[in-house]
Amino acid sequence: MQKLYINGKWTDAGSGETFESYNPSTGEVIDTVQAASSADIDMAMSAARASFHDWTVTNVTERAEYLRRYLYALREEKEELAKLVTRETGKTLSESAGEIEDALNLSDYLVGEGKRFFGYVTPSTMKNRLAYTQRCAYGVAALLAPWNFPVSIIVWKMMPALLCGNAVVIKPASTAPLTAGALVSFGEDIFPPGIVNLITGGGGSVGKQIISHDEVDVVSFTGSTEVGKKIKNAAGLKEVGLELGGKNPALIMPSADIRKAVNDTVSGAFGVAGQRCTATSRVIVHEDIIDAFKPLLLEKTGALKVGDGLDPGTDMGPLITYGQVKAVDGYVRGAIEAGARPLCGGEALGGCYYSPTIFDRVSTDMQIAREEIFGPVLCLFTCSSLEEGIHIANDVPYGLSSAIYTRDLRESFRGTNELASGIVVVNNPPGAVEAHLPFGGVKESGIGRSGGIEGINEFSRTKTVYIDY
Ligand code: NAD
Repeated sequence: MQKLYINGKWTDAGSGETFESYNPSTGEVIDTVQAASSADIDMAMSAARASFHDWTVTNVTERAEYLRRYLYALREEKEELAKLVTRETGKTLSESAGEIEDALNLSDYLVGEGKRFFGYVTPSTMKNRLAYTQRCAYGVAALLAPWNFPVSIIVWKMMPALLCGNAVVIKPASTAPLTAGALVSFGEDIFPPGIVNLITGGGGSVGKQIISHDEVDVVSFTGSTEVGKKIKNAAGLKEVGLELGGKNPALIMPSADIRKAVNDTVSGAFGVAGQRCTATSRVIVHEDIIDAFKPLLLEKTGALKVGDGLDPGTDMGPLITYGQVKAVDGYVRGAIEAGARPLCGGEALGGCYYSPTIFDRVSTDMQIAREEIFGPVLCLFTCSSLEEGIHIANDVPYGLSSAIYTRDLRESFRGTNELASGIVVVNNPPGAVEAHLPFGGVKESGIGRSGGIEGINEFSRTKTVYIDY
């Protein structure tokens, strides 16, 4: 039974309520988890507030040393942790191991770069005055995470928040609470009590109360656009960062390396069973190469082995819940009714498994072309020019990440300039993430950035200082 973690202690929830964490590959219950009550949330917030002062007045270099110890603890546990992530989310072991490496890289970056925590010095208009800025913590940071990257997203929030001198209350997705419990346990002997707190429970109940809690100064949310909009409305004057959904395009131009573009499209579309914010959910292929591209795409997709993520032969694991299987299947049936043509897949395979699915004859106004499906469904478009390709790519409410494949320099730069997304990748899938660079979207894909200096700034504000001498 996993408990709440409040003020440095694993604590029973006052509600007496519990929920279960399942392995979507097998349907087995992995463990039971306690669901927080309002009183538990109040306790976690009070603990965070009470510990904040002593934490925030430590030097940032000292806080970076706490993070370094945490980084080492996480590194020690990475193999066992990857197995837990795979059991809890259904991702393949290599996908789980990959996100843990991302978390380690970010932590490594922060304990170095983060130490500088810099403001700037500028000349004053007044004589005998020094004017400069410095960065300060907000106070209590509420960190709300989705299930699909249950290690890297929590670490990408927790590490910069702590480095900047905030105390944190973590609320993981109710489909991946055990991974969050493990992450918090690695810090038990490292962080002072109250600095890191874990609250588990449902999003609509516990999550909602956390974001509107008076003690919270900054909310960092990663999840669906639908919930992100609710959070923005409910958060009032609190500082809010939102990393939301995507409908990411890959535009393939005639000069592209076709085999690489096909391989990348398959891994981009069907990695984590399409349940990634940066999944390639639309591929737009120039008409001059579609006859070469399409058969290779179908061949490569047809060879994917769907199964339990713990099996080393598995290429694609299950969806997170049976509810998600039904949602994906609803999109597929709707697309067929609307006139799109399934080229492969389109079948629920039992349990939480769904077949890798590709549609062509998709028009840009169809629901499957516009909405984030969050499953293994790829829409294939053709275009007759770069302009048309970019137009199709941009014709969605989202703008997280885009890719263009070309060997033509002019097309590369037109792509990077004109594709309307927070991230643009040339000759690789849209899902690029590096710890020292900002990550985030435009339009309905979010507000703010994680990673890099921008990710540090999400958890700190500027104070202006004048010193007359
Ligand atoms: P979700 O929006 O259902 O849940 C995210 C978190 O919010 C969970 O902890 C959930 O319990 C909580 N929550 C739900 N309703 C809430 C409410 N009313 N108030 C407060 N909290 C609430 O998302 P999910 O299904 O866990 O994850 C999938 C989504 O996350 C996809 O849309 C995906 O694109 C997005 N995502 C975005 C990024 C990014 O960096 N842009 C990364 C990963 C996932």
